[in-house]
Amino acid sequence: MNVPFVDLKSQYQSIKPEIQAAINAVLDRGDYILGQDVKLFEEEFSAICEVKHTIACSNGTDALVMALQACGIGSGDEVITVANTWVSTVFAITTVGAKPVFADIDPDTHLIDLDSIRASLSNKTKAILPVHLYGQACDMTSIMQIAKEKNLKVIEDACQAHLSEWKGQKVGSFGDAAAFSFYPGKNLGAYGDAGCVTTNDPQVADRIRLLQNMGQKTKHHHECIGLNMRMDTLQAAILRVKLKHLEQWTNARRTATSRYHELLEGSSVKIVRENPNAKHVYHLFVVECDNRDEIVSELQSQGVGAQIHYPTPIHLQPCYQSLGLPEESLLVTKKVVSRILSLPIYPEITEHQQKSVVSAVNNS
Ligand SMILES: *Cc1c(COP(=O)(O)O)cnc(C)c1O
Repeated sequence: MNVPFVDLKSQYQSIKPEIQAAINAVLDRGDYILGQDVKLFEEEFSAICEVKHTIACSNGTDALVMALQACGIGSGDEVITVANTWVSTVFAITTVGAKPVFADIDPDTHLIDLDSIRASLSNKTKAILPVHLYGQACDMTSIMQIAKEKNLKVIEDACQAHLSEWKGQKVGSFGDAAAFSFYPGKNLGAYGDAGCVTTNDPQVADRIRLLQNMGQKTKHHHECIGLNMRMDTLQAAILRVKLKHLEQWTNARRTATSRYHELLEGSSVKIVRENPNAKHVYHLFVVECDNRDEIVSELQSQGVGAQIHYPTPIHLQPCYQSLGLPEESLLVTKKVVSRILSLPIYPEITEHQQKSVVSAVNNS
């Protein structure tokens, strides 16, 4: 049975009339840039994430760059993050001129390891950039505690973690700022590139509004050097429609995950642990396996999509060879990366499809 890794088309079919009406309304109004849907989306996203400010922008990578810049991170500063992430996390740090310092990860949750954060601190450390990877919140109680002790900024990479929670509080509301991505395959996905920054700090919010719109508050008056990192009104209109369904889609992901837990019982693969303090939103459903190559080829031959997030940790990417990190650093990261596999997960996945996935896994 064919099981795609993600299925964006079936979701579109389920909301097609709403989406088309929203798009037509933008076209009829003609407010293509910074139009009314952008403002309304910002208000609605702030409400759902329980934050004071949302600044809609071009994509998650730009959101990270602006969040770092608005928090005053730049040349000479060190930012502690993980190497087990999508490359944007680290690109953002080097784009603002700062140096990434990699902490290792917890072997069960694959999230940033707290002892390793402490071991990575130096007198140049300016910020911690935790990644709520796969949709699971990091231990924000401890991270905020370390930041407070050492007077550090915290920028959350929440690009995979819409509506995820730590101890009942939404991610994106803990740090000085947070970045979300609305890349089409994310839990809340636009039909093109889009992202946003959330913050409770009005000064950070003001600064990001300047940065994303050519450094201008009023036209032709450029207070700082900015860029064009705005969100299209069309994407905002689409996101407003989808935002209404997000909670239900998140619940569907969690239901599908519980089903995987049952179906995989007794199987040779180990499911990445869900911390009881975290509400995991399962952007990705990741298992660890001893015989990954065999499983992947069995899945492939059964028509089941599977991917690896991510096959090479960032410190071993060619573009970061200049950091000069030895092969034998970040031992947990290195070990985990050789064993991980992401199985298909999306709100519309059926029990029947999940059974095919699991039978292929168990067949290898
Ligand atoms: C998707 C993603 C980003 C970047 O978002 P884009 O919208 O693709 O620029 C950053 N960090 C993580 C962890 C992501 O998954």
